[in-house]
Amino acid sequence: MKTWEEIATVQPIATKMLTNMIARDRLAHAYLFQGDKGTGKEVMSTLLAKSIFCQHIANGEPCHVCKDCVRITSGNHPDVHKIIPDGSSIKKEQIVHLQKEFTYTGLESNQKVYIIVDAEKMTTNAANRLLKFLEEPNRQTTAILLTENTQGLLDTIRSRCQIMALKPLNAQQIEKTLQTEGIAEANARLFAAFKPQIEDARLLHQDERFAETRKIVVQLIEMLQAGSNELLLFIQKQWMSHFSNRDQLHEGLDLLMLWYKDVMYTHIDKEESIIFIENQEKIKKISMHCSKQDTTAILYAIMEAKKHIEQNVHPTLVMEQLTLQMQR
Ligand SMILES: [Zn+2]
Repeated sequence: MKTWEEIATVQPIATKMLTNMIARDRLAHAYLFQGDKGTGKEVMSTLLAKSIFCQHIANGEPCHVCKDCVRITSGNHPDVHKIIPDGSSIKKEQIVHLQKEFTYTGLESNQKVYIIVDAEKMTTNAANRLLKFLEEPNRQTTAILLTENTQGLLDTIRSRCQIMALKPLNAQQIEKTLQTEGIAEANARLFAAFKPQIEDARLLHQDERFAETRKIVVQLIEMLQAGSNELLLFIQKQWMSHFSNRDQLHEGLDLLMLWYKDVMYTHIDKEESIIFIENQEKIKKISMHCSKQDTTAILYAIMEAKKHIEQNVHPTLVMEQLTLQMQR
């Protein structure tokens, strides 16, 4: 995603506000883009910088090929500064350095833009220094602060910024994005359903543990369906040795829950919502002898199991109880 038109599909309101302000030459001195990972903060800050410098804007879009645009893309524009955390924080020296740079007039224009990534990571000293900077607004300077967590920012800084709240991506948008990155549809759908943030969803693609978890969960379901008498042995051996802590166990149970939600979708004729699209046939088969009521009971039992895990009930016991309930 690199044009306003593209980012508008994900962030329609923020895009409209920004492009309007650009068109009317009414840019604020400082912006705060707040939103989760993957919501387009960096893309939008780069687009905003390009829109300020590009001399060939057409229909509101910067050209992306002129000298200014190219240098902004590569991070080499002399009048666009980006500050990223130095280690775990943004330090006062980084802000001081920025201010110094800004006392010189622009090399090619008087316009200057600075972008502060993960602005909530500024130390108190850095934040106070930046505050002074924001308090003396210069008509030709635009500050763009990016953050995932506005609570970490001083109120005095927030109040000097025009706040652009970016909306979180929904599962379909995450799925679509992952697919454009080359991840197969079936995986993209599952990852997006499993992790509400795109960065986390993307990581699942390389996560061998997750692939193994998925296999074990499907295996458990197959054994349940077959009425296998080795179920308890399977729980005690394979299942428990794979899920060795509480978080991992929750992950397994969450996957199990997604599967039975799929069974429910089949019952209510909402097949388009199915997550395990690769296993659609299996899910359909299960729905034939697992009634809507049974499915509801199973979903409830999984939620109860998750609750018991939180209450420190022994995990083997929780799983044995759960599978007994599911067999009924
Ligand atoms: Zn351009």
